[in-house]
Amino acid sequence: MKRHFYSIIFKLLIIQYLSVVCLCATVDDFDFFYFVQSWPGSYCDTKRSCCYPKTGKPASDFGIHGLWPNYKDGSYPSNCDPDSVFDRSQISDLKSELQKSWPTLACPSSEGFKFWSHEWIKHGTCSESVFDQHEYFEAGLKLKEKFNLLQILKNAGIKPDDEFYELESISDAIKEATGFTPGIQCNVDSSRNSQLFEIYLCVDTSGTEFIECPLLPKARCDSSVQFPKF
Ligand code: AMP
Repeated sequence: MKRHFYSIIFKLLIIQYLSVVCLCATVDDFDFFYFVQSWPGSYCDTKRSCCYPKTGKPASDFGIHGLWPNYKDGSYPSNCDPDSVFDRSQISDLKSELQKSWPTLACPSSEGFKFWSHEWIKHGTCSESVFDQHEYFEAGLKLKEKFNLLQILKNAGIKPDDEFYELESISDAIKEATGFTPGIQCNVDSSRNSQLFEIYLCVDTSGTEFIECPLLPKARCDSSVQFPKF
């Protein structure tokens, strides 16, 4: 009888332990990714300015800012794994691709590891159920290759020439070419002109397929925005 009692207690403890483990495994889950690319001209011409990376001025192209796990309600997890350390040796094979497509513009000038470490620790660690560190950066690079945003805009007559363009025409051009409605963020240059800064596209939780955004970030743009030269 006593043995039976202890066996039941033991089983209950196992069930409790498993439910805690399952709960922990889903805590860092999320609903979709924002894949965010920035226009370097708009990062650099603000009051804060920028520093070109040690490899020199980046190409006149959108650069990856990050791949960010998000929830459908607009909130997002961050810094999910206090035990995770950024290990630069894990992405040494991707370094030159990252410098081309995911360039740092932060000051002081650097190779880029500080920026990539920030993105991994703040956002990447919240997708550890999908990606390890190497896979996270590889996924970002692959996503960028799927759509050439600058070419899409140029095809629609929207060029980085310091001219102003209707926000709606930027959004329409991207929607037409990709099939997905983009989120668009603006910032202001040193003369307070509203300018095209970041383009958000949404990606499913596998980190490979673009999807229609469950929620778009609130645009802080004028209806007409400048597309600065770079
Ligand atoms: P996040 O924390 O991922 O939202 O990114 C914001 C931080 O990343 C800020 O400190 C920005 O200054 C920095 N940041 C954004 N874009 C770049 C870039 N292209 N190069 C370097 N730092 C950047």
